Order: sequence, then structure tokens, then C-alpha cells
Amino acid sequence: MTHTTYDELSKKMKEVRLLSNCSSILGWDMRTYMPSEGIEQRGEALSTLGKITHVKMTDPQIGKLISQCSGLEKIQQRNVELWKRDYDRETKIPADLVIRLTKQSTKTEGKWYEAKRKQDFGLVKPDLEILLELVKERAQALDAEKPMYDVLLDEYEPKMTAAGINSYFTPLRDGVIKLIKKYQDAVADNPPDISIFDKNIPVDAQKHVSKWIMNFLGLPPNRSRVDEAEHPFTTGYAKDVRITTHYQEDPTAAIYSTFHEGGHALYNLNTPEEHWYTAVGDTVSMGIHESQSRFCENIVGKNPTFLKNFYPNVVQKYMPAFQSVDTDTFIKSVNAIIPSKIRIYADEVTYNLHIILRFEIEQDLIAGKISVAELPSIWNDKMEKYLGMKIENDAEGVLQDTHWYAGLFGYFPTYALGNIYNSQMLATMKTSIPNWEEQLASGDFSKIRNWLVSNVHNKGSLYDPIDLMEKICNQPPDTKYFLDYLNEKYRSIYNL
Ligand SMILES: [Zn+2]
Repeated sequence: MTHTTYDELSKKMKEVRLLSNCSSILGWDMRTYMPSEGIEQRGEALSTLGKITHVKMTDPQIGKLISQCSGLEKIQQRNVELWKRDYDRETKIPADLVIRLTKQSTKTEGKWYEAKRKQDFGLVKPDLEILLELVKERAQALDAEKPMYDVLLDEYEPKMTAAGINSYFTPLRDGVIKLIKKYQDAVADNPPDISIFDKNIPVDAQKHVSKWIMNFLGLPPNRSRVDEAEHPFTTGYAKDVRITTHYQEDPTAAIYSTFHEGGHALYNLNTPEEHWYTAVGDTVSMGIHESQSRFCENIVGKNPTFLKNFYPNVVQKYMPAFQSVDTDTFIKSVNAIIPSKIRIYADEVTYNLHIILRFEIEQDLIAGKISVAELPSIWNDKMEKYLGMKIENDAEGVLQDTHWYAGLFGYFPTYALGNIYNSQMLATMKTSIPNWEEQLASGDFSKIRNWLVSNVHNKGSLYDPIDLMEKICNQPPDTKYFLDYLNEKYRSIYNL
């Protein structure tokens, strides 16, 4: 009977899940507390674990069990479907390609650090060329029939295609450019002052505020923690989820990275407990993940009504240096639209143009329309065209992000997809929580959190991202909601 077959399969897949959990905790330790000389040792430990995981995942017994499962309930069927997807993917990639790719991406990432430090793309170019070919080889192995970029995209956002992304990004680009123009005209005589953030706030005070945010979001202290890392990230699963932040002189860096990572953590903590360690018990995609982090960071953390409470009662309380800055000024400055050369410092509006630029370039690169050697000049031209920014050196240009140098092509679009998803979720949420802003203003996030938990987090991977959006919003994703959200927000703050 199928039950034992399914149980046996579940047991094997749970082992794979636990191994990947071990890798992520080792990765967390590497980026937070590990002594710097431990890096080589940790690299060996991680690649050994990676090899064991790959062997377990491609065990022919798993393929056999998958094909023998029948007569399953709906959720079991979905688990088998997702496990099959993973198994087919892993087994299509020759073991030697896995090794060559891992070695080359580690090497290229190492070169990238040096190239970025020396502001010289030429230093990493030869390795990036080799890595790109391996990434293409992998995409070919996975599915030689489909366009290569779609194969890559599918790994981060299942069932998404470049054509689908284009249908969201074309109106996104036009709408965002229009809003930036309107805003720039409106503030031309009286631009918001972002130098108000340069306060050199003591780290202890910033830590208090980070703890306050964790508590406000509802991250239980016995199942989550916050630490420091160079580049903030979230890791962990089920009852052990960890976020990191970065305390700088400008405290908004830590404030908004805590909101952002806190949103990721809420999702990781609230996948359906009864399905933990199965595929359904996991988060579904990077786009949906980013929708949750950006929801907390932007829709909540930068909401003017929320800030009217948060700023005087939390920011000014723990950081008295801000007592000379009134609430209205803070709200305007936090929401200022100021083009930046660097994606991670970009505001909620111009951020999307950074993503569109990367999406366009990586598609052309994968399609062979442009070469690796041309990357810096194409990057700089587009930065000037889209954001009016003149790039002075590669470090602030094509070398600023690590993704391509780690072999991650097709990843960037998920950031902007997150914005599109979460504003549409917000539109739906408003119908059941019309006073959501007053809730925020009273310091109560519980109703909003419960809505996110039951509509998004608790669904785990039961549906693919687009299907999940349709279940939540009764219609497929539509960029209109994000543009409406931005226009309404900027109208209210700046009287546009
Ligand atoms: Zn994120």
C-alpha cells in the first residue's frame, strides 16, 4: 500500500531538509561569529555537507519511491510533485558539473572581493566568463528545450518566465519614471534633508530599537534572535530563525534592515507546522519571500501613520539626538526619492529601476547578445539613462552586487516582484482590515501579522507563486497595485 512508500519517501526527504538546515546554520555562524581564519576549514565543512546532501538527494531509491506513490491525499500529492521537481533537477546535473560550478563560483566570488576593493572589473572578468559558461551549461542540462533565462528564473520563482516578468516590469518602469518626475518637480524648491540621519547613534541605543522592532513584529525571543553581519540576511527554519543587521552611524540602516529581515523571519517561522520538513512546509519562492520582507520594511516601517507613533515613542526615546528633528521632517526624509548609485541604498521608488537594469542586462548576457567584457560600459550607460547617475568606477557600478559573481543569474527580478506582490496583498488585506493604519499607529501589528500568516506564510509551498497570488487576491499579479500604492503614498506625504 502507498502509505509506507510515502512515509519512507518523507523520511528520506526530511534528512535532506535537515542537512540543508545544518548548512545554513554553519553559513550563519561563518558570517557572524566565526574567527576569520576559520574560513578555509568552514569551506571544507560546507562543501562536504553539500556533497552528502547531493548524494542523498539523487539517491535512485528516491526516484523509485516517487514513481511508486499513488492514491495520495491532496497535500501528499503536492509534496510528491515538489519532491519530483527537485529530484529531477538534481539528477539532471552531472556530478562533475556540480563540482566545477561550486569551485568556479567560490573562486569568482573571491576575485570579486578583490576586484571591488581595487575598483577594477578586469580582475574578475576572466573568471566571470568561465562561470557564466558553466551557469549556461547547467541551464542546458536542466532543460535544453526552454529559453535558458527562463530555466534560471524558474529556480528562484517557479513557473515564472522572462515574458511574464516583462509584462510586469514594462508598466513598472513607466509608472516609476513618471512618479519620480512628479516628485522632483514638487520638491525642487524644498528638497527633504537626508543629512538628518547622520547622528552617530551609539550601538546600544540601536540595539534597543532593533529589539523593539522584533517584538513589535511578533518574533518570539525563544524561536528567533538578532545578530550582526556585514550584509544583513535571514536564515533558519521552523523554531530556530535568525536575522542579522548592521549598526552604522546612520541608524535607519539598522532600523530598516531589522524590519526587512524581520519580515523574512516571520515567513520562515510561520510556514505550516504540521508540514515542517516536507516540501509543503517550506517557503515557496524568493519573490514571495521578498514580498514579506518589503511589506515589513516599506509598507509598515515607512508608513507615515505608523511613523507618527514609532518616531516619537521609539526613535526619539532611545536616540535623544533626534529630539531636534520633528516627526514630519523624519517622515519626509525617510521617504525621500533620491537616486542612488547603489541598489541597497535606494529608496522604495528608484529601487525598481535598479532591478530592471539588472534584469535587462542579465537576459542579454545569457542570450549571448552582449559579452562579459561589455558589462561595465553597458551598466554605466543604463545607470545614466534610467537614474541620471554618472558611474565613476566599477565598484559603484557593475561590481556593487555579489549575485552574478556567485553564479546567481535570474535572481534579481524577484526583488521587484516582491514589491508587486505585496502591494496587491495590501489591497486585499485592506478589505478585511480597513483600519490597518490605525492599528499600526496604536503599535499593534497583530491583526496584520495574523492576516499575513494565514494568507501567505501558512500556505507554505502548497501553491506555486502565481497560483498563491490568485488564491489570495482573486486575480493574477498586476503591477497596477504597486503603482497605485506608491502614487497614493507620495501624494499624501508630498502633496503631489
Ligand atoms: Zn530580502
